[in-house]
Amino acid sequence: MTAFNPWEMACQQLDTVARKINLDKNIHQKLRHCKRSLIVSVPIQMDDGAVQVFEGYRVQHNLERGPAKGGIRYHPDVTLDEVKALAMWMTWKCAVVGIPYGGAKGGVVCDPRQMSLTELEKLTRRFTSEISIIIGPEKDIPAPDVNTNPQVMSWIMDTYSMNVGYSAPGVVTGKPIEIGGSEGRLTATGKGAMIVINEALQHLKLRPDQCTVAIQGFGNVGSATAQFLHEIGCRIVGVTDVAGGVFNPKGLDIPALIRHTKDSERHTLAGFDGGDHVNNPAKANEEVLKLNVDILAPCALENQITKANAHGIRAKIIAEGANGPTTPEADEILFRKGVFMLPDILANAGGVTVSYFEWVQDIQAHFWQLEDINKELTRIMVKGFRDVLDIAQREQCDMRMAAYILAVSRVATAVKLRGIYP
Ligand code: NAD
Repeated sequence: MTAFNPWEMACQQLDTVARKINLDKNIHQKLRHCKRSLIVSVPIQMDDGAVQVFEGYRVQHNLERGPAKGGIRYHPDVTLDEVKALAMWMTWKCAVVGIPYGGAKGGVVCDPRQMSLTELEKLTRRFTSEISIIIGPEKDIPAPDVNTNPQVMSWIMDTYSMNVGYSAPGVVTGKPIEIGGSEGRLTATGKGAMIVINEALQHLKLRPDQCTVAIQGFGNVGSATAQFLHEIGCRIVGVTDVAGGVFNPKGLDIPALIRHTKDSERHTLAGFDGGDHVNNPAKANEEVLKLNVDILAPCALENQITKANAHGIRAKIIAEGANGPTTPEADEILFRKGVFMLPDILANAGGVTVSYFEWVQDIQAHFWQLEDINKELTRIMVKGFRDVLDIAQREQCDMRMAAYILAVSRVATAVKLRGIYP
């Protein structure tokens, strides 16, 4: 069996839509390449005095529609190909919801769970310095992703500001509110997911208070998705994280579970007493994906729903909080089974949408109320859903293909208008 390669998957998805829309072959060729890929080494003096050198990446896929935007991931399995794929998906995501950005992503190969806070700060500051030649409020604006958070964003903002000699809050989004962050950003990806799930429920004539939900991954995206679905009346019956899973057919007490993960030493579900635990992560994940629920939200990593397990999925709706959780082979199986797919580039676009609001607020030095943020977020997500659904109905295709048709067409138009330099 060949190893999963996210970049090959991303290119395969682009090739499929290119055939479908008869994309100009020159534009197709251009979009199949990332504009810039920067590889940096990040030497850090660890707490024990020894120097350890980490590898980091910042990739900009396309800048045709605006500055580059995309998160930074800290994970032992990060690869350049993964970061390239995530950057390409960011290009499509910004285009689907009509946000004036291109796509980028960053990552450092490290295991933050094994590092102290001091080591993480040093890693972040040195990585920021190394990539500062290509980031900036008008060039490329990072944000949080797996294992990075508002504290990490604060260090990025501070390091960049120290290097340029003035405070530059617009260089990064997902910052704490006290230093130029936005109301609503922390939970924006989950809120956006809930908004499009709610639209899908209305479309399929299902009521939230009669729906059950399973969620894989309980970090920023998974926990906020759970929180907002819980608030509209859904019953969350199973969630997993890197340590295992917790299941309760009567419904988990989500506010209590969120409090538990925040308080527990390692920020995991382990030890929560409101459900049955499966402590083997692989087994817990297998179980959560197969649960007999209305909505399944994969909110962890790529390559979770594959041709090996897609047949066993029983959910009516899949909402991809994570980027790239479903392989193209699994997509086909799910489409034939009649599963309603809310693809990553639509379902998790709430994060980049409120990041865009944060950047606009930073540039204008004028901050919005939470109700204004939520109103604009809802407007953009609902429009994104309806635009994609219209295409899916017109073209008789699944929602992922429809989202790609919309996104790639918008980016292709921008490429055509700007022309190939020189
Ligand atoms: P996070 O670090 O806050 O949380 C990740 C969660 O996944 C944790 O609960 C972790 O325990 C769990 N996890 C890791 N490996 C797992 C495994 N093998 N099985 C089950 N659970 C596992 O990260 P996040 O920001 O919530 O990001 C999750 C996904 O959402 C990623 O694909 C990311 O690219 C995507 N995403 C994030 C944002 C954002 O604003 N943070 C926006 C859009 C998309």
